[in-house]
Amino acid sequence: MFKIGLTGGIGSGKSRVADMLADWGATLVDTDEIARALTAANGAAMPAIATEFGADALTPDGALNRDWMRERAFADPAVRQRLEAVLHPIISEETRRQAAAATGSYLVFVVPLLVESLQRWRGRVDRICVVDCDPDTQVARVQARSGLTEPAIRRIMAAQAARQVRLESADDVIINDGATTPEQLRAQAKTLHDRWLALATTQGR
Ligand code: ADP
Repeated sequence: MFKIGLTGGIGSGKSRVADMLADWGATLVDTDEIARALTAANGAAMPAIATEFGADALTPDGALNRDWMRERAFADPAVRQRLEAVLHPIISEETRRQAAAATGSYLVFVVPLLVESLQRWRGRVDRICVVDCDPDTQVARVQARSGLTEPAIRRIMAAQAARQVRLESADDVIINDGATTPEQLRAQAKTLHDRWLALATTQGR
């Protein structure tokens, strides 16, 4: 099956693009969504997390205690590595399972940190598509959506790949900055969708 890796910084608009592609017939596999589901109450990763970090890492209903974990993982790279060592194999397995079950005209992996783990992804997708946005617009969008403070958003952005680095990995770019209207976003997504559909058909996989 023909495969796209869709990425972009927080607030760039990649979820919005992904939703359009799904409407037009692509199958989405969203690694953030997978990670959230695996660490929700009774999620498949929770027994392994409880074993690794103890009961403090869990909320009373058995989900990952995100505040507890975020604090420690930000402060201590070793904690972050332990968390990733537990989560990565489980996320990878679920990602593979969903990809194998895809029935759409092509497959879109939605991966916020694709460029940050480019080695892992480059060989798994036919094309990498970056949704590009200027940092101030990212902040404004995320503030409007989440109520996070500007410093908190900028911290998240600082932990993600820089705009230029992301663009250097792109085979296709969708520009979605502060001047881009929803209609312009949709038009760019549609152009790429048509191209990918043609490639999916000619490649026959
Ligand atoms: P991401 O998934 O990359 O974090 P989203 O797709 O969730 O980003 O977009 C962030 C927010 O900005 C959402 O509320 C979305 O509807 C809004 N948004 C994205 N692109 C545009 C645009 N071109 N015009 C107006 N709002 C937009």
